[in-house]
Amino acid sequence: MTTALAALLALEAFIQEHLDCGELDSDVENAHVWMTCTCGAVITQMRDPPGP
Ligand SMILES: [Zn+2]
Repeated sequence: MTTALAALLALEAFIQEHLDCGELDSDVENAHVWMTCTCGAVITQMRDPPGP
């Protein structure tokens, strides 16, 4: 499994896990993808390969 796919699955799982919480917020910063939930949970994943 590639890092990119693993990161995607982790983000997907995070979304599914917090669907009932409320608002999900996501941001992309350089090679990282952040996702935060209104409940306070945060997930950070490496983006691979880095975008343009
Ligand atoms: Zn949550």
